[in-house]
Amino acid sequence: MPSLERYDRQMRVEGWDQENLLKAGVLVVGVGATGCELAKNLTLMGLGNLILVDNDVVELSNLSRQMLFTDEDIGKPKVRVAKEKLLKMNPLVKIEDYYEDVRKLDPEIFEKVDVICSCLDNWPVRRWVNSIAVEFNKPLVDISMEGLYANLQTVIPGKTACLECYGEELIPREIQLAECTLRRRRPEDLVKDLEELNIKINLDLAEKLFEAGIKTLYDLKYSQAQVLEKIDNDVREKVREIQELLKPKTPALQSIAATISGIATTEVVKILHSENLGKIFSGLLVYDGYFSRFTIIKLKRKEECFVCGDYVKTEGTYLEVGIDETILDLKKKIAETFGFPDPEILYKKWKPDDSKTLRELSVENGDVIYVETSRRFTPLPVKLLLTDNIKK
Ligand SMILES: [Zn+2]
Repeated sequence: MPSLERYDRQMRVEGWDQENLLKAGVLVVGVGATGCELAKNLTLMGLGNLILVDNDVVELSNLSRQMLFTDEDIGKPKVRVAKEKLLKMNPLVKIEDYYEDVRKLDPEIFEKVDVICSCLDNWPVRRWVNSIAVEFNKPLVDISMEGLYANLQTVIPGKTACLECYGEELIPREIQLAECTLRRRRPEDLVKDLEELNIKINLDLAEKLFEAGIKTLYDLKYSQAQVLEKIDNDVREKVREIQELLKPKTPALQSIAATISGIATTEVVKILHSENLGKIFSGLLVYDGYFSRFTIIKLKRKEECFVCGDYVKTEGTYLEVGIDETILDLKKKIAETFGFPDPEILYKKWKPDDSKTLRELSVENGDVIYVETSRRFTPLPVKLLLTDNIKK
């Protein structure tokens, strides 16, 4: 047992139990500005097992706020550099690093940790992380920031609201993307979409991308490693270049990152102490650095939430459809209702053709379909209520 003298001052905090930290595992998803801060705090405080996941490399423009990286780290995977620096800060912490898309991580890693921290800069992956946290019943601390503003939401699955409970109000809907994904698209459309953003590609490349299933700007932005693995090296290189150009370049400040990550760390530590250290924050905290103001928005968990609701776990959610609607109509409805831009439908273990109507597929009232989307860890069960039956 190593000496606890290192932690002497924090152990003087009333209710503190260093053992809680020493035996705990925390997963930090995203090692950007907030992820660096959070990982640094947990390391200094003596967490037992810290797991880092991120699929990016260090860039010059990161150095103004991603405090674990310095000039000589440019071009290296963030997780590798972070691990090295953190171990210098506290060699007693066990650190695992995964240089990959979080959605490719072995689910066992989510299962074994005590808290998941989402420090991401995009909603699609935040939604995915939220869904796996709920699935494995793991507390989630989600933080995000833009300019002088930052948000923090804690999710205790089954007890407090998850990110999707108020998704309609808080998450930008991606229906427009869905419409272009679902509409019959040609490689020319992709060339045109990119042209509007001043990115030029030739039709030949667009055709190759289509073959790999990359048909929209969205597909380009968030194509997962398994898609990229399948394509030729030169095309993959092009995709990487375009991804770089499409990356959101939102304004970001180190001081705001440090503020919100500091608060988040305290919440993680409180969760690990099961409230012996103080009441765990519930709801959404908004920090407004412009007016120097904190706002707390109370969020009550929604029973009918399609991610964390009790009903969806036992019965699935439902959707009203007409028997003569096609699978494509159904996909559009799903996109609008749940904000999934890329729904795939499984019916009786098959992926029915977009042009087929429900009547042709002999769908009956109350049949369940499964919706696969990159926004969820598990497919969403949806019970089909045939409107023709409802009217009767
Ligand atoms: Zn929810």
